[in-house]
Amino acid sequence: MVENQEKNIQTKIAIVTGASRGIGAEIVKTLSKNNYTVVLNYNKSKNLAEKIANEFANVYTFKTDVSKYDEVQHLIDFTINKFGRIDLLVNNAGIDLIKPINDTSLEDFDNVLKTNLYSAFYSSKEASKYMINQKSGHIINISSIWGLIGASCEMAYSVSKAGLDAMTKSLAKELGLSNIRVNSIAPGIIETEMNSFLSEDEKNELYKEIPLGKMGSTNEVASCVLFLENNLYITGQILQVNGGWNM
Ligand code: NAP
Repeated sequence: MVENQEKNIQTKIAIVTGASRGIGAEIVKTLSKNNYTVVLNYNKSKNLAEKIANEFANVYTFKTDVSKYDEVQHLIDFTINKFGRIDLLVNNAGIDLIKPINDTSLEDFDNVLKTNLYSAFYSSKEASKYMINQKSGHIINISSIWGLIGASCEMAYSVSKAGLDAMTKSLAKELGLSNIRVNSIAPGIIETEMNSFLSEDEKNELYKEIPLGKMGSTNEVASCVLFLENNLYITGQILQVNGGWNM
């Protein structure tokens, strides 16, 4: 916790990657409304990121391509130099790739793994150094239902998300005695740009497989971040937010 001198209150310091839009943006807004100071990482969508920072208190933007280790180091250094600590790291940045394996190039596979999985290794490696010194911290990885059950023609994406869940469990065991918790949130299908390619007919077909018969909202994922933050005895878990899709 650090003192927010403008408001004279204690605030936790959070980093959310890939937060210019979609789920990440909603997580930033939720944390900001709940008295966190948030470093909002974006890559290409500078205008969207700045709009959020202008609207919400205690949100600072920082451009980083999370697939690059040196850029992630700068993101962590920026946060430490400005605020002196990291209480929460949300590894949310991600890209999808829908291609059969024979059309998936080595570059495609590399790009998905670097953006979705290596990125979380880079940020967790850098942030955990400070969390270990603090003797507190929380890392949340935004994985996916596809990491649990595999998606046809989304092998690289599914592998990256399964890797994130394995990272969650492994780091939860390694870092628990330093009072650092590590959890995953695995959404099903959530209303964001990532799914904007789906036609109404395709959506209706998908809804037939989901017991609640609809997509989730970004708020339904963001509220899980707060839930996990507030329950200090949960670690190493994969919280599924999917309308009952995977039962
Ligand atoms: P989205 O609307 O497509 O937004 C993706 C975000 O990731 C953007 O803010 C984008 O930032 C950022 N990003 C992409 N590549 C980046 C990079 N190299 N460096 C930094 N930021 C990068 O996606 P979303 O639906 O909100 O998904 C967020 C996370 O939830 C992803 O990890 C996704 O896999 C996961 N998820 C989503 C769903 C779903 O149905 N939507 C389901 C399960 C899991 P810029 O625009 O600034 O580049």
